[in-house]
Amino acid sequence: MLDIQKIRADFPILSEKVNGKPLVYFDNGATSQKPQIVIDAIAKYYQEINANIHRGVHTLSQLATDAYEISRVKIQHHINAKFSHEVLFTSGTTHGINLVTNGFASILKPGDEVVVSSLEHHSNIVPWQMLCEKTGATLKVIPMNEEGELIMEAYDALLSEKTKVVTVNHISNALGIINPVKYMIEKAHAVGAAVLIDGAQAVPHLKPDVQDLDCDFYAFSGHKMCGPTGTGILYGKEEWLNKLPPYQGGGEMIKEVTFEKTTYAELPHKFEAGTPNIAGGIVLGTAVDYLNHIGFDAIHQHETHLLEHATKRLLEIEGLKIYGTGNKASVISFNIDGIHPYDIGSIIDKLGIAVRTGHHCAQPIMSFFCIPGTIRASFSFYNTIEEIDIMVEAVKKAKTMLS
Ligand SMILES: *Cc1c(COP(=O)(O)O)cnc(C)c1O
Repeated sequence: MLDIQKIRADFPILSEKVNGKPLVYFDNGATSQKPQIVIDAIAKYYQEINANIHRGVHTLSQLATDAYEISRVKIQHHINAKFSHEVLFTSGTTHGINLVTNGFASILKPGDEVVVSSLEHHSNIVPWQMLCEKTGATLKVIPMNEEGELIMEAYDALLSEKTKVVTVNHISNALGIINPVKYMIEKAHAVGAAVLIDGAQAVPHLKPDVQDLDCDFYAFSGHKMCGPTGTGILYGKEEWLNKLPPYQGGGEMIKEVTFEKTTYAELPHKFEAGTPNIAGGIVLGTAVDYLNHIGFDAIHQHETHLLEHATKRLLEIEGLKIYGTGNKASVISFNIDGIHPYDIGSIIDKLGIAVRTGHHCAQPIMSFFCIPGTIRASFSFYNTIEEIDIMVEAVKKAKTMLS
């Protein structure tokens, strides 16, 4: 069992008041809060070792480079990548996905097909649409059912030798549904397609094993897993990263530059042009250490408890409907009959409760359910049963005020 009060004490913001009320933070799907150890590590970097990396002979540059590369190896072990050069630092999931779609622009041909799921975040739809527009490839969409689950029979039927890439999230941000990615990867590989997994919502809840999944790419953001904003990771299998052209040209990513021809640096530097978010990259390693110290089994156990309690309590409210009822992570997307999600969100905000309202960057899901949006409460390991009860009472109060 987790010592929740002890964990909460690690997060200074959790003892803040918002609108005069103790903060109840249930917008973890948008970004997580940061423990003091992460906040301190950012200052420590600038106070003690700030220097540019991979270029100086001087001591500070060496110290900063070592810290950055140690963080890369830490993340390599965390996701069980085979090599540390398969772990690319990015500014977040969006950057990682765009790096891959940019690379595929030189690989796809008219008539090729890209398969996306109907459960995707806009970040994992729009770059693929842009890629299809550029190359003449066709975008195919895996449909979902009323439970918010992808329909696997339909997925199987979409795959053919024309399929070149499949892209799907590990866990849906809008509904919390956990997709059967291992099955999907195996099926895609059987027709020779590459697979990108958008792990943005998975990494706060579980420890992905990229070798076991056998995915070709796995993208995630640091800020949803207790790390700083502007950090992220793109894992890519070595053979794919060697095959794809660089994303950006600049310093750091070259072997030799002449005006006639430039040759590119080895992995991972080929994809890391310019001065990166050095502090962020180092501190993402601190965040990963922090999460592992708490332990993903304990996190899973606690979050399951929160999800079950919140589901049971919210369903006490008449006219409340939960979207996404399949196998899922600790996320609840809901609406109350006849009330706009925004109105509930605004009232409970006055009571210190932070939830997300709207389409959650996943408009196709809202269209599927014929709704403008939902109220999304997304729980983290530092949330408590008491906080859920506070939210349920606040939602009841808002409902009374609005009906
Ligand atoms: C948050 C999120 C993204 C985008 O992440 P950024 O950090 O904004 O780049 C992509 N996909 C999913 C599933 C997300 O939850």
